[in-house]
This record gives sequence, C-alpha cells and structure tokens, in this order.
Amino acid sequence: IECLKDKDREIYEVIQKETNRQKNNIELIASENFVSIAVMEAMGSQLTNKYAEGYPAQRYYGGCEEVDVAENLARDRMKQLFNAEHANVQPHSGSGANFGVYFAILKPGDKVLGMNLSHGGHLTHGSPVNMSGSYYEFVDYGVDEETQRIDYDQVLEIAKKEKPKLIVAGTSAYPREIDFKKFRDIADKVGAYLMVDMAHIAGVVAAGFHQNPCLYADFVTTTTHKTLRGPRGGAILCKKEYAKMIDKSIFPGIQGGPLMHVIAAKAVAFKEALAPEFKEYQQQTLANAKHLGESLQKHGFRLVSDGTDTHLLLVDLRNKNITGKEAEKLLDEVHITCNKNTIPFDPESPFVTSGIRLGTPAVTTRGMKEDAMEVIAECIAQIIDNPDQKESVQKKVAELSNQYSLYESSTC
Ligand code: PLP
Repeated sequence: IECLKDKDREIYEVIQKETNRQKNNIELIASENFVSIAVMEAMGSQLTNKYAEGYPAQRYYGGCEEVDVAENLARDRMKQLFNAEHANVQPHSGSGANFGVYFAILKPGDKVLGMNLSHGGHLTHGSPVNMSGSYYEFVDYGVDEETQRIDYDQVLEIAKKEKPKLIVAGTSAYPREIDFKKFRDIADKVGAYLMVDMAHIAGVVAAGFHQNPCLYADFVTTTTHKTLRGPRGGAILCKKEYAKMIDKSIFPGIQGGPLMHVIAAKAVAFKEALAPEFKEYQQQTLANAKHLGESLQKHGFRLVSDGTDTHLLLVDLRNKNITGKEAEKLLDEVHITCNKNTIPFDPESPFVTSGIRLGTPAVTTRGMKEDAMEVIAECIAQIIDNPDQKESVQKKVAELSNQYSLYESSTC
C-alpha cells in the first residue's frame, strides 16, 4: 500500500495500526476471522470500478463480460459448497440477505416466528429496534430455562398457536447444533415457509460438521465473513422454484449495483472452502472451542448449556460477580478481544449483560491449537479473578500472540 502512504497518510496509518492490533490481540469475537491475502487482493481490485446492475448475461450496463465470469464462478462454487439449487451472491451484508427473503415473501404486517434476541437470535429476526420488528409482526421462541437449548416442542406449540407465514431459524449466540429437520417438520405442520440464517455456522456447514440447512429450508441466508472466512458480505441460497423471486427481491427490490470486487472475493473464498484444508481448519476450530470451554470450566466458569457443539461459547459470568460489560473492558485492557452478550433470561440489560461470547474461528486461522486455548483460558481467568494483575496477563498475551504470525509475509 505504498501509493496510499503517499496520498493519504492518515488512512495509511489507520490500516497500519489496525493490522498491528489484529496481530497483537487475541481475537475471540465469534463473528470475526482473518481472510487470506488472495481474498483481500480480489477485494482491493479494479472490479470495484464496474457497474453491473442485473445478473450475468442480463445486465443493465455494457462491458460486463469479465465480471459476469466472476459472478458465475461465485454462484457455481457456492452451490457446490452447500449442495444448493440456486445462489444469489449479491447481498451486501447478512442483514441485506435476510431482508431480501422478507421482501420476497412477506407483506408488511405478516406474522413471522423468530428466535428471541436475548436467547441467541439476531437483530434482523424481529427486534423492535430493527426494521424487521417494525414492518412485520414477529413473535418469538427461545431456549428452555433448564437445558438452555431450543425446545422444539415449545416451538411447535407457538407455531400452532400463532400460525406464522415464515419461521426463521439460525442464531448469533447459540452454542449448540440446531436441528433444521425438526424446524422443517414444524413449518410443514403449520404451512409456513422456513428460512435458515446460517451466518455464524456457514463455514462449519460447508465443511460438513453441522447439519446442512439447504436440505430442509426454503431459503438459506448467510454472511460470508464469519466461519466461512470470506469478504464482508451476504448471500442467499434457495430452491430453484424460488430463484427468480429471490433475484428480483435483491435487485431491483432492495439493492442497486452489486459490489463486483466483493463478489470476486466471495468466489475466491468459496474456492478456498472447497479445498480439503478447509475441512481441517473447521475441525480444529470446533476442537479449539470445545477445549477453550473445558479449560474455562476448570477455572470455575459456567457455560450456557454447559458446553458447545460449534465455534462459539457463551460464558455466564454471574458466579464471578462481574457483568459482561465490565469483563469485555477488562479483557480489552489485556488485549483479549471479545464481546459482551446477553445470556438466556438475563437479569441485566443488553447494554450491560451477564455474559461474554467467545469464538475460535480467528485464533484457529492464526494456527492456534488446544495448547494455546489453555493459555487463553488461563489469561481470562487470571484477569477476571484478579483485575489488579493486568501487567502479568498482558505479558502472557504478548508471548502467545508473538508465536503466531498474521499477514507478515505475502506468501499465499
Ligand atoms: N444473521 C446473523 C445470525 C448474524 O449473526 C449476523 C451478524 O452478526 C447477521 C445476520 C448480520 O450480518 P451483517 O452484519 O453482515 O449485516
């Protein structure tokens, strides 16, 4: 980025400092990852210059023959990755993908059944502060108070009572595998569409370590930047019969020109996800999450649902007498990055919370394995149990992060 250094020193420095922050911190935000240099090259390419409203071979602009190749590759690779009939790779974000489905099949005021935000759902699944919650009539299901897992009988009961037009499954902060087949059965019993938002687990699904929602849902939405380790963006998969409806809903329904540089980067990431190494990466991500959880439990931490089947853990901090907000700040000060998160039936507000969410996709990309997870758990326990030992924990974190490189050479 030598041109940028000359032309805009301020932004150049932001990038340098953020790169150093990513290198020096232990990144445990469950929705983040580190993309490959190949993905970044596609994102930073000349494809950003191109307007290409429409779809391959059906554009509203001339000169689209090269970007058509990129979009076709992205669509084909994504279909192959998830065994899906149709892919729309144009959504600019996960939220946009969700609204693409809503706009395609719902009218304002239609009833939708989604997961409660404080039990693991996402803002776009009907939160009152989100457009989803104000345009549509969302009703919610949650987890069982005892097991802290989705109670499918309860979901069926609510669905029978409410008769929603659409059921939304998929979460931002649920550590357990979701049974999409059961959701399909429930949707069929009440005559509802089923949409699965697999944003968090897309990479795990692609690698074959989680039930594939494409086998059961009418619509599957995702982000491309979490476990899937691609550029920031969204996508929709659906059955062939809904292809036209979904494509129309994204363009011209809710978006204009697609981001062709991001679509090319999605294609690169999907190619990476089709390679055998990606399976190994996801396997290690899951093993790391399990090990991090068990190590934290040895230090007296409670985990929501008592463990994890996925890439993330939800830590219930109430027995440690610290809120999620305080813990996030304390961990930040020792260069461990995570986010505060509500736990099911949280007595605290969403701004304070009683929990933190931890994920292993980013640290696993850096090459960390189970031994590193033990060190991370030790650091988390030491600082939360002894907030006055900042310097000692900072030193341990620095020693750990120095062992794992990040963007230090341009080798692919
Ligand atoms: N859906 C789920 C389940 C998510 O966790 C997220 C983001 O965290 C989104 C959708 C929204 O994605 P974006 O931030 O790209 O709009």
